[in-house]
Amino acid sequence: MLVARELTKEFQSGSHQLTVLRDVSFAIPQGAFVAIVGPSGSGKTTLLGLLAGLDTPSRGTVILDGVDLRSLTEDQRARLRGEKVGFIFQSFQLIPTLTALENVQVPLELRGESGAANRAVELLTRVGLRDRMDHFPSQLSGGEQQRVAIARAFSNRPRILFADEPTGNLDANTGARIVELIEELNRESGTSVVLVTHDLTLAGRAGRMIRLADGVVVEDRESGHPGDGKREAGSVNPREAHIAVEKRPEGSPLPASRFPLPGSEEVA
Ligand code: ADP
Ligand code: MG
Repeated sequence: MLVARELTKEFQSGSHQLTVLRDVSFAIPQGAFVAIVGPSGSGKTTLLGLLAGLDTPSRGTVILDGVDLRSLTEDQRARLRGEKVGFIFQSFQLIPTLTALENVQVPLELRGESGAANRAVELLTRVGLRDRMDHFPSQLSGGEQQRVAIARAFSNRPRILFADEPTGNLDANTGARIVELIEELNRESGTSVVLVTHDLTLAGRAGRMIRLADGVVVEDRESGHPGDGKREAGSVNPREAHIAVEKRPEGSPLPASRFPLPGSEEVA
């Protein structure tokens, strides 16, 4: 689904050259839930920018859903992002003059989707904001604002979701609930998730952890899901989920889920 191949990113500042990422390589299968961890300044945000095609590497390449980003113009990369990528940021990035509903609905309308209003309502209901849809961001708590941002990020049925420290502005409990929600949506929709966090407890919820230090991958391991005691018997481990998605015959429906994500059946 997503391949990083020997990604190197250098910045030139005056006569000084700063290597922010060096030879970063990994592959993320469709449907996986991967955490990228590392101290502040280790290159996590820079890496997400390269993976999402927002920025270009000095050397190496990114292959996103079979497309080598090197072969695309900036416009083509932007189009690919619109079709396949969702984002969540630490600072929520909602439009303050739009209600929760409009924050989700307007991007859908701009993409020319029919039924944008209905889908926005469905998504906000899914993230638990049915009764808050007419609120403006300033009238919502941080956790609620991030839920709106999650609904918006899933609105284009992305193949892959990038989240850069999405819990950084939230208290520990609220942050844990946000990551739980992202994890549920990952399981339901088959959307791959790359979660950047420096909270190792939250990272432990992911099926895999990639650790950066000074721009280099120093660890890349499957993390046996420690669980939190709330996971139901018989529920799917994210690792198994992506295997199940991969093994699914072409065109067959995704496994039924308790809370289907609106339109998730259309996500390949
Ligand atoms: P993280 O997200 O892990 O905190 P970043 O990717 O934001 O780390 O930054 C990694 C390093 O790259 C930092 O030392 C930062 O100062 C540097 N850096 C990031 N963007 C630029 C830039 N545009 N120009 C120069 N240096 C940059
Ligand atoms: Mg960062």
